Amino acid sequence: MPVRATADLADLRGRLRRPLAAEGVPAEQVLLELVADVRGGLNASAGGRFFGWVIGSSVTAAVGADWLAAAWDQNAASYSTAPAAAVVEEVVGEWLKSILGLPPSASFALVTGCQMAHVTCLAAARHALLAQRGWNVETQGLFSAPAIRVISGGHRHGSIDRALRLLGIGTNQMAELPTASDGRLDAGLLESALAASPDAPTVVVLQAGDLNIGAFDSFSELIPIAKKYGAWVHVDGAFGLWAAASPRLRPRMSGASMADSWATDGHKWLNVPYDCGYAFVADGAAHRSAMATRVNYISYSSDVRDEGDWNPEWSRRARGFPTYAAIRQLGRGGIAGLVENCCDHAHALVTGIGRLDGAEVLFMPTLNQGLVRFIDRRAGAGPADHDRRTDAIVEAICAGGEALFSGTMWQGRRAMRVSVCSWRTTASDVERTVSCIARALEEDAPGPSG
Ligand SMILES: *Cc1c(COP(=O)(O)O)cnc(C)c1O
Repeated sequence: MPVRATADLADLRGRLRRPLAAEGVPAEQVLLELVADVRGGLNASAGGRFFGWVIGSSVTAAVGADWLAAAWDQNAASYSTAPAAAVVEEVVGEWLKSILGLPPSASFALVTGCQMAHVTCLAAARHALLAQRGWNVETQGLFSAPAIRVISGGHRHGSIDRALRLLGIGTNQMAELPTASDGRLDAGLLESALAASPDAPTVVVLQAGDLNIGAFDSFSELIPIAKKYGAWVHVDGAFGLWAAASPRLRPRMSGASMADSWATDGHKWLNVPYDCGYAFVADGAAHRSAMATRVNYISYSSDVRDEGDWNPEWSRRARGFPTYAAIRQLGRGGIAGLVENCCDHAHALVTGIGRLDGAEVLFMPTLNQGLVRFIDRRAGAGPADHDRRTDAIVEAICAGGEALFSGTMWQGRRAMRVSVCSWRTTASDVERTVSCIARALEEDAPGPSG
């Protein structure tokens, strides 16, 4: 199938907007028609030549376990509603902390994605920072509470801002510090921002793998500074936290275990199906105070781990099964291999693209993310022309159906982002992709008349 969906909005609405029927249809017919109706409306994000955004595919055992989770239809809210699911999550949490190099004593939650992992972690942060100031946010709310300040670099993901909105902290509380061209936060800038209001309850958000270039903040340098001012340090590691799984890449994460909370995804780099994210909190009591809720129609026992004590959802799917299956299928070595292969393929892809006439490398991957752009070679062409050609080539590549990339803004310029996150990507996918980009560039080249 072409990597990018070929059906347009009118096609899809035309097929899928069936009249709401009074009478049902046999299940098999429903499924066969669904398959026919979505034809051309799926992106091949499960395949090996999908390099857009940061989207992983799924390993086989995880897909199978996800089907089982649906078929078994457990409500993984607590041990008593789904005993095996509760134990699987307990095991998965321990495995994940070990793979990701996080403190064994940290608490955790399996949530829908990194967005909700941020919400869960920052709810724990909100609890702890205000409890230290004699304020119980769970009962008193935020009206009249001391204002929480958030410090982060300009390279953060938009899901941090939405977490602040959902938690009632508000995006105006965000003090954004400029990041250097290497995408990292400067220690001096962080220290002076903290020193400007040394007693304010503060969250510092650091990045393990930013969305454009996969940059890692210097945890060993920045976290002690934040701690000196009593700040809560949260790490957004939606995909970058997985660097810890690879002995080769683990040094990037050096010092990250000193943070207070960490958010990451399963559906990106572990290659499990959606929806799967993970939240980890060093202060388990703060985490539990922010989330736990008990009702009299469920029986609780002290020696089990009830997911509802840690998760923001009430009823929920047993999303521990696919993670359990993926980790068992891959093992430690397989996860390290998956992460390293993606990085190697990203490097090869950007290197190959960089050799093409009209392409320019903006960022050579140091993890799994790189940036290129396409230059307008006509005499007198300026920045706006390069931006235009970059967008035109990205569109031509996607329209060709061989590979998919997304455009982005980087340091004021349009760029094409190269993100490799799938176990399915092979060296031959890389070769085929470079060839299709070469063709797109040739077809777009200005004629002899300019
Ligand atoms: C994808 C991403 C997120 C959001 O994760 P979801 O799983 O989509 O909720 C947050 N931060 C970074 C750096 C990301 O790449």
